[in-house]
Amino acid sequence: MRILATDLDGTFLGGSDRARTALTRHFGESPDRTLLYVTGRSSRSVTELVRRGKLPRPDAMICDVGSYVATADGNPVQGEVMEHIRATWGDRGERVRSAFAGLTGLRLQPDFGPFRVSYYFDSTAELAEAHATADALGCDGLVSDNLYFDVLPRGVNKGTTLARLMREWGVAPESVLVAGDTLNDLAMLAAGFPAVVVANAEPALLAQLPPSDRILRASAPGCDGILEALRSRGVEVSDV
Ligand SMILES: [Mg+2]
Repeated sequence: MRILATDLDGTFLGGSDRARTALTRHFGESPDRTLLYVTGRSSRSVTELVRRGKLPRPDAMICDVGSYVATADGNPVQGEVMEHIRATWGDRGERVRSAFAGLTGLRLQPDFGPFRVSYYFDSTAELAEAHATADALGCDGLVSDNLYFDVLPRGVNKGTTLARLMREWGVAPESVLVAGDTLNDLAMLAAGFPAVVVANAEPALLAQLPPSDRILRASAPGCDGILEALRSRGVEVSDV
């Protein structure tokens, strides 16, 4: 297992500093291992966290719920994966904004990348209508953490983008450990890679996880849960 493909909030940003440091040394500071963030945050938000020392510098990142692949500096990674995202999204940004402007209970988020449109929702939102509106525009609607409604290019999510990127890199699924905690992680947790759901996971995610020997439900939160998964698979990670 030489690649850690991890969600950030609640996952790599969760658990103890001690566990995060151990994972950083193992994946982030080793030339033959790879630390890959797979997050709902924008690349700007991640690079800001790295700049402030809240996160180690990754090798690469999948941002914006799978709709943007970036270098550690936040620049788009040129290649088939980004080409697919760009072509699938087309010019839908403005059309999504105007179609969603009339829906109640949805508020535009302040910061997201160029190939999605993202909202917060509250209890007054009609999610079925929001999903139907996204669908009519040729997009996917995705709810996560009982808070976020993302409008994404059809078929693009954390799982499909990670799978495409790993194929492009020529990586076997068994070389990857996927880690997550909320519903927008479901697609990558169920994408056929070895995976861990950390203990602080959203109940709705736990309810929708398919039964699979590949997916460990950790007893520890955040980074401690990731360490638990690695060690249960015989990967030696040094303590700090
Ligand atoms: Mg999360």
